[in-house]
Amino acid sequence: MKLTTAIWFTGALKAIVLANQDDSISFEGFKVYRIDTSDQIADLKSTFADLFIIELNYNRHRDSLATIDVAVPPEHVAVFDALDFNTTILSRNLGADIATEGSLGNYPELDDDGVPGLSWFDSYHAYEDHVRYWADLQASFVNNSELIQVGYSFEGRPIQGIHLWGSSGKNSKPAVFFNGNVHAREWITSIVVEYLLYQIVTGYNKKDTAIQAALDNYDFYVLPVVNPDGFVYSQTTNRLWRKNRQTRDNTTAVGTDINRNWSVGFGGDGSSSNPSSETFSGYQPGDAPETAALMEFAQTLAVDKGIKLYIDWHSYAQVILLSYGYICDSFPKNIDRQISLAGETAVRIAQPYNTTFDYGPGCLVLYQSSGNGRDYMTDAAGAEFGWGIELRSTSYGFVLPADQILPSSVEIWEGMKYLWANM
Ligand SMILES: [Zn+2]
Repeated sequence: MKLTTAIWFTGALKAIVLANQDDSISFEGFKVYRIDTSDQIADLKSTFADLFIIELNYNRHRDSLATIDVAVPPEHVAVFDALDFNTTILSRNLGADIATEGSLGNYPELDDDGVPGLSWFDSYHAYEDHVRYWADLQASFVNNSELIQVGYSFEGRPIQGIHLWGSSGKNSKPAVFFNGNVHAREWITSIVVEYLLYQIVTGYNKKDTAIQAALDNYDFYVLPVVNPDGFVYSQTTNRLWRKNRQTRDNTTAVGTDINRNWSVGFGGDGSSSNPSSETFSGYQPGDAPETAALMEFAQTLAVDKGIKLYIDWHSYAQVILLSYGYICDSFPKNIDRQISLAGETAVRIAQPYNTTFDYGPGCLVLYQSSGNGRDYMTDAAGAEFGWGIELRSTSYGFVLPADQILPSSVEIWEGMKYLWANM
């Protein structure tokens, strides 16, 4: 179909959103479609800017045309179907998927070493339980870690996590810096990052030589939830919320995309100056307090021992994203080495369950995105490897059943062990 038709349905789809009794959004009857965009993704995206249609993900496949996934409310499914996009249906009822995803779990018992049990990874969890989890994990590894706090979210929640180090003591090695759950609805990211922490802490205590080597070579700085306000909102009100919860003057739109608010490439293609957009960059680099805190923290790491590896954790495209996202025809100096490492990491990720991860510069393998964290780390914080990893799953999307938390964690653990030993 022609995009002029798409512009017409922009007006038709201003939806009345149904709420549950507790004011959370009901996704009962929402259908999820994958639209073949005929490679006109930027045009399609602009038509979505003011819609209630929820943009989920864009994918540019190496061997086929680009696709965009969208969730459509039930009262507009007939209108949407009549538009005759080239689509496949990913979900016939998103509300049912959310029910299958499982309710937020109970806090596990601590084992004899004071570590929360593996049952933590059987379900998703409330934000306050994540905070407790970090504290318990750190307390079980007290000689080699400390809780850290890098700043505050828009609503005043601390942005926190764990700093871990090895035999040379703290602040003695280059940094491995992980950011999880920058996008609120990507729940799998924080819990997979916590699995990495769990494996590091328990493995080091058991004198696993590979884990000892990783921690002896690098200081790890791990912030599992860098967008706490959005994460909480996605748990209480709108499961598909992406941005932070920042309000601004002269608009009722809420939220800045923290991963478009970094200073490198700020405001370029693949970000929006429209506050209603899912990729709203903000008006100035770092005018989202979460990004400002992360940029400042990255600078302290950069001038201290430097940043070896940064990974910004996302879902659900199953891809290892290298710099750059903001430009498509220029690459970091060490790009050949990065591609080789990412390819070998993808091989290790695939070993347990045959989960396929693509890899390469973000602009080439996924889509252009300006003002993102990995480009900032590469160009402004001197990171040797400024990466993003999009976790599972291309078939389930953001609402991943809880029984996939452990498999997703295990495969990434395999990839990380390889990466840390070989980078
Ligand atoms: Zn994301």
